Amino acid sequence: MKFDVLTLFPETFDLVMKESIMGRAQEKGLIEVNAINIRDYTKDKHRKVDDYPFGGGNGMVMMCQPVFDAHRALTEGLEVKPKVIYMSPQGRVLTQKMAVELSCEKHIILLCGHYEGIDERIIDELVDEEISIGDYVLTGGELPAMVLIDCISRLIPGVLSNEGSFSEESHFNGLLEYPQYTRPAEYEGRPVPEILLSGHHANIRKWRTQQSLERTGRKRPDLYEEFLKNSDE
Ligand code: SAM
Repeated sequence: MKFDVLTLFPETFDLVMKESIMGRAQEKGLIEVNAINIRDYTKDKHRKVDDYPFGGGNGMVMMCQPVFDAHRALTEGLEVKPKVIYMSPQGRVLTQKMAVELSCEKHIILLCGHYEGIDERIIDELVDEEISIGDYVLTGGELPAMVLIDCISRLIPGVLSNEGSFSEESHFNGLLEYPQYTRPAEYEGRPVPEILLSGHHANIRKWRTQQSLERTGRKRPDLYEEFLKNSDE
């Protein structure tokens, strides 16, 4: 899967996208992440990419020309148009379900805003979907784009060493994951639940399901209600 990221700060992607699971996924060719500097497309002699908002107001707005030209350069000649996502606090809030849907795409262009945001005509013309990572405002779309790339990529077959691992994780089936423990079996007088040492897989599965239900009800009653509602249907 290919991610082209349009950003004013491409170097911010270097570390996060090259480390650990994301780095290995790129080395194996399972994902490709290209951070493209929008400023490289400006026709302004001072390499300007933003300007004052019409009508007055605070801050600067990213201009149409460099973004339109960068998008054109990325999509010219392509038979299948990539989905264009603008990372925005005004978008649909990202969920695991959305990530699963997006993991079926082959090519996504992510647009990162900065300053006060981007000229609305870019959204009208180029953007298929706006996605937010939560109801708060960040200085730029780079961290949100990395969040989105990370949570989509780990759903792509081969990216995680254990294929089944994400299907047991929090949010996959509407519940939070059961508690996890590792060695030692007792740490400073705190033992792990005995059932996990029993080797009885059916009972362990049952215990984990109960734990998942209990902690979802306690930590996220909103998710729990939704889960019960969906189970009734
Ligand atoms: N003036 C904009 C507004 O009120 O809707 C906010 C602009 S914000 C300071 C700058 C950029 O950060 C946005 O263009 C967007 O790309 C990114 N951004 C900020 N918060 C975000 C969030 N919660 N989710 C996704 N992107 C976000």
